[in-house]
Amino acid sequence: MGRRKLLDEDQAKKELDSITKFSDKNQRLAWRRKRNRMDDLLKKMEPLNEEALKVILAKQPIMDEIEHVRQQMIKECVHPRDYLVHKGTHVLCKFCRSKIKVKS
Ligand SMILES: [Zn+2]
Repeated sequence: MGRRKLLDEDQAKKELDSITKFSDKNQRLAWRRKRNRMDDLLKKMEPLNEEALKVILAKQPIMDEIEHVRQQMIKECVHPRDYLVHKGTHVLCKFCRSKIKVKS
């Protein structure tokens, strides 16, 4: 990397211009219009992004509480009938993910 000499400013500018001139003026104009349209669309999105952020922030404490309650329910799981699946050698509780051995 260090092998490359720093270009002087004029040389660098000339090289950048030569790349730009590769496309004709109409192409460049059309592209710039699209870039402006892109900027407008992104600007249109801004208030929605702010709204989305507000929604995420409002959801967070509720999500935290849901997770807290869910963890308590797992800890105190009574293995309700409708969560039980018989796996042949054991019964799986789909709520707490416990494998429960059954005596036969
Ligand atoms: Zn369970």
